[in-house]
Amino acid sequence: MEITRRDFIKDSLILGGSFLLSPVSLNAGQKKAEAWHPAYEKLENEGKLAQRVEQAYAIFEDCQLCPRRCGVNRKKGERGFCRAPYSPVIFSAQPHFGEEVPLVGKNGSGTIFFSNCNLRCIFCQNWPISHEGKGKELQDEDLADMMIHLQKIGCHNINLVTPTHVMPNILNATRIAFKKGLRLPLVYNTSGYERLEILKILDGIVDIYMPDMKYMDADYAEKYSSGASDYPEVTKRAIIEMNRQVGELLVDKRGVATRGLIIRHLVMPNRVAGTEKLVRWMAETLPKSTYVNIMAQYHVNYKAFDYPEIARGITVQEFLEAMEWAEKHGLTNLDPKSVALRRFYSIFKSRPD
Ligand code: SF4
Repeated sequence: MEITRRDFIKDSLILGGSFLLSPVSLNAGQKKAEAWHPAYEKLENEGKLAQRVEQAYAIFEDCQLCPRRCGVNRKKGERGFCRAPYSPVIFSAQPHFGEEVPLVGKNGSGTIFFSNCNLRCIFCQNWPISHEGKGKELQDEDLADMMIHLQKIGCHNINLVTPTHVMPNILNATRIAFKKGLRLPLVYNTSGYERLEILKILDGIVDIYMPDMKYMDADYAEKYSSGASDYPEVTKRAIIEMNRQVGELLVDKRGVATRGLIIRHLVMPNRVAGTEKLVRWMAETLPKSTYVNIMAQYHVNYKAFDYPEIARGITVQEFLEAMEWAEKHGLTNLDPKSVALRRFYSIFKSRPD
């Protein structure tokens, strides 16, 4: 891999402070969007958003919001695997500058962290929020006001982190916020562990899907994500549906994402995440220009210390081989920060001791 001086300077800027750059220069290969309105605006104008909210809320009475399909009545106070109540529990709502460059733009991604989780991985970096449910129980109206506040301070999107178990609250809050002037794209920032039937309710509401694809092996999914052995198959189906709904990533004239799919994949030690199998599947199943972020930031968190196989960070070689597999299988739209990191690691590796 040949590295020019120009590449080196660009990579330094991306890794050092991506949010200071104009995203246009980093995403030259992406399609440009035309006059833009959020998907939910059309649905509301057609009088269909209220029906979707109603349809979603009905699921709370026999909760089947995710593949765990607990069947509990959350309206009556019962709690299922995720331990989430009927109202949304929220840990924080603020601009986030560490997300993918097309989400961050100049003013940040308006990130709302929901407490509790339907997957509960043992290496979760947000475990106090996802496992222990740290956060404040609020009403849908409060969630709507948070969305409006994030728009007011200039955020480019509403980035809903771990939304699956609170999807009905999100839809209701979106409708309330729309009436108060919300016009930002919704980013559905999910573990990927989603049911097709539920995703169909979101069709025409969500503009940007950002699923993880954590593993390709059922045994690892079962071991490290609380028994979710169906994660690989369920998530593959979910990603195909998300791609059908929103397609490849579109950006506006500033380079800020308005619609489309972003897939995240965290490289894990000892090839636990099945990266080569995953990039091959993506290249064979989705457009090769699908935006994919291959991430190097695995840290040992929470209970991962008890599992020797994942009780260390990844090596430079493990990240480089992941990027090489993506290139070998022809993926053409890799996140610029991961491309820059690959170049840095390549320089680091090629230096004499
Ligand atoms: S959202 Fe929670 S209660 Fe509902 S099915 Fe999933 S884990 Fe169970």
